[in-house]
Amino acid sequence: MSGDVCCFAEARRVAIFGGTHGNEMSGIMLVSMWTKNDCEIRRSRVHVEPFISNPRAVEKCARYIDTDLNRAFTEENLSTAGGDELPYEVRRVKEINQIFGPKGSPDAYDVIIDLHNTTSNMGSTLILESSTDHFTLQMVHYIKKAMAPESCMVLLTEHPQLKYSTTRSVAKHAVGFEVGPQPQGVLRSNIFQAMRMIVKHALDFIEMFNSGMEFSACRVEVFRVHERVDYPRDTNGNISAMVHPRLQDCDWEPLNPGDPMFQTFDGRTIVYEGAGPVYPTFINEAAYYEKNLAFIITCRETLSVNSIRKSTK
Ligand SMILES: [Zn+2]
Repeated sequence: MSGDVCCFAEARRVAIFGGTHGNEMSGIMLVSMWTKNDCEIRRSRVHVEPFISNPRAVEKCARYIDTDLNRAFTEENLSTAGGDELPYEVRRVKEINQIFGPKGSPDAYDVIIDLHNTTSNMGSTLILESSTDHFTLQMVHYIKKAMAPESCMVLLTEHPQLKYSTTRSVAKHAVGFEVGPQPQGVLRSNIFQAMRMIVKHALDFIEMFNSGMEFSACRVEVFRVHERVDYPRDTNGNISAMVHPRLQDCDWEPLNPGDPMFQTFDGRTIVYEGAGPVYPTFINEAAYYEKNLAFIITCRETLSVNSIRKSTK
């Protein structure tokens, strides 16, 4: 392992996004609560901004109004001219980019934490976009240790085709917290409390980093997005099978060749025929039916993380 120390500027501005999807209730409620009283998220060395990212979708308790905000931070949308005739979320992209970006610029916020819920049995999941952002990797390592013995999985979305343009990607360091299972539009206290703890640990990490603490080199187990799996469909494109009961709720558990994957309406089993073991997640996520996605296949790997500290200049 190399002795490299990565230096990063102090993280002075952090935003916590809730309601990027307007029917994912934990983040919406936490952010609303912190907007009224921020003493829980206040830290002495960093400005923390709670923010509802899709207020119209929150009002309707829908994932989005016109298009998925969490897929919309593309170069095209960021640079498009136009005003009121644009889809609501595209207008929102431009507003969020103005407040927290511009994306990719030195003026962008240091960290955005984006709060999501899933209907899948994923537990507490930290979503990373890059395997080379050692600041965020160290944050994730810190949160995993602080949450133990409760497990906290890390999903790495870095992939040449499957990565998408998230709302949080406006910041220099982006992390998503995905906690479930929780139905859309529903609040469950255990999920709310788990998310609240993860945010606390994330802010504690940032505060310690800002105070000058060095975080030593470590290793983090991650699950890298590998493949999308759609439902079996008939010739008209309609779903012809369901997630198999042996796979349902088994997010993060190994799937091997020959293991049941789907069950047709007449009870026939469709098995996994790829290489294995792989690790399915987002199994039977409600929001992904419209995306033709039954689950995501990930591969487990261990990343080496450099030590980090605050740059002194
Ligand atoms: Zn979401």
